[in-house]
Amino acid sequence: MQKEPFKLQGSVLFIEPWNSLNPNIVAGFSTRNGGFSKEPFDTMNLGLHVNDAKEKVIQNREQLSQWIGAPLHTWICAEQIHGDKIAKVSNKDLGKGSTEMETAIKGVDGLYTKDRNTFLFSAYADCVPLYFSAISTQDIIGVAHAGWRGTAANIGGKMINKWISDENIAVEDIVVCIGPAIGECCYIVDDYVIEQIVNSLDGVVTNEIYEKVSPGQYRLDLKAANYEMIRASGVLPEHIEISNYCTSCHSDLFFSHRKSQGKTGRMLSFIGLKDGG
Ligand SMILES: [Zn+2]
Repeated sequence: MQKEPFKLQGSVLFIEPWNSLNPNIVAGFSTRNGGFSKEPFDTMNLGLHVNDAKEKVIQNREQLSQWIGAPLHTWICAEQIHGDKIAKVSNKDLGKGSTEMETAIKGVDGLYTKDRNTFLFSAYADCVPLYFSAISTQDIIGVAHAGWRGTAANIGGKMINKWISDENIAVEDIVVCIGPAIGECCYIVDDYVIEQIVNSLDGVVTNEIYEKVSPGQYRLDLKAANYEMIRASGVLPEHIEISNYCTSCHSDLFFSHRKSQGKTGRMLSFIGLKDGG
């Protein structure tokens, strides 16, 4: 097991190794703590689409914005449709999706930018948050939401290929972090899901990704599946961080869609580059 890259500071998890990589990078994951929402969204629900009181969600987002030093008007949020589309955004998009779903970047599960003071967000309750940056250029950041559908569609690999082809980033330069998500300990899926995952992992090692537990029932390690696909796209293993946190096991820290049978809040992944003088 890798050393846990996410470190709690107050009620927020930050990707610690990336702080030393670039002190201007602000990247991490919210927890369910420190907010204002009532059950079952207690307390730090950041999802606008889960039937929580909107004013509470905005209040929670304001709180997170203070903790991470990123005012709401510098946020950009993806709509998230469990697809594999990725949008390049810029400081012209600032504020989109920050206080209402209607203005979020439509039809995408991945965002990246080359602009500073432009913070990218996506929402989670078990799915895998993927974070991207580049070491030597240090002027590009991205985030992608990978549930089993996004994983099967290889949204992580697609982000990397886009950076290589559209942005001229060398693959040896790319760093990826795989964030807190439901672990293999708590994630049982059926034949249909396993088929989609295995098909997309064609030619990539699959034996450590899932395990049959009974007929038609499998334990799936979504974080490992994303790791293998990101490796397959050429990112160096020493440039990939993986969180050990399982969102279903750690109810003290996280909302879990599975554990709560769908009635729960959302955490946000965030990444941004501040002006560093
Ligand atoms: Zn678990």
